[in-house]
Amino acid sequence: MLAWLLGGATAYAAEVALDVGHSLTDTGAISARGRGEYHFNRALAPVVQQALEARGITVRPINYDGRATSLSSRPEAACGADLFLSLHHDSVPAYELSPWVWQGRRLDYCDKYAGFSVHVSRRNPEPAISGRCASAIGASMRLAGFVPTRHHFPKHPWADEENAVHWHDNLVVLHRTTLPAVLFEAGVIKHREEELQLADPERMARMADAIATGVAACLYAMPR
Ligand SMILES: [Zn+2]
Repeated sequence: MLAWLLGGATAYAAEVALDVGHSLTDTGAISARGRGEYHFNRALAPVVQQALEARGITVRPINYDGRATSLSSRPEAACGADLFLSLHHDSVPAYELSPWVWQGRRLDYCDKYAGFSVHVSRRNPEPAISGRCASAIGASMRLAGFVPTRHHFPKHPWADEENAVHWHDNLVVLHRTTLPAVLFEAGVIKHREEELQLADPERMARMADAIATGVAACLYAMPR
């Protein structure tokens, strides 16, 4: 956090702790074409960072090197920031997967679900602010033309159905922290078409812009 003088009034620069989900050794979900989720998250992070910084938001990178040793070390590293934002890419339950062979590799896919979703925990110490930021991100994504997935319901109930926000109470990165926290799922990498879209630089930039617009709307509206 930092404050500076602007035209005689104290302006406030919000700070976002931007977390790259998973790690080099535990890459998370495996895409339809065999790419680990961590690599999608790592590719999106600097694009989101740039979009946040363009709005005057300070970014504290978390786990850009992919070497975070434990889930709880991430929120600890975020301490003092205004928002913890964890970037992820989504999968589907195992029973929804079908086998296929791509470039000689036996893999699995599911073309049934595509789209983004946003997750918050009621166990977070700031559930109201977390929920507001999640709703703002979801609303901004929809306004930019991105379509949510609905496959996390009913396992994870809606916190804000219109804006694709779910209660996901037991995620460690969301509740083992002292600050508002949001987990963003950019899209479903088990979906063969969406996997390709999620790696498209122009689309990634549009998505990052939508995320940053939502974050800025939320953080600059927060009472000080
Ligand atoms: Zn993940």
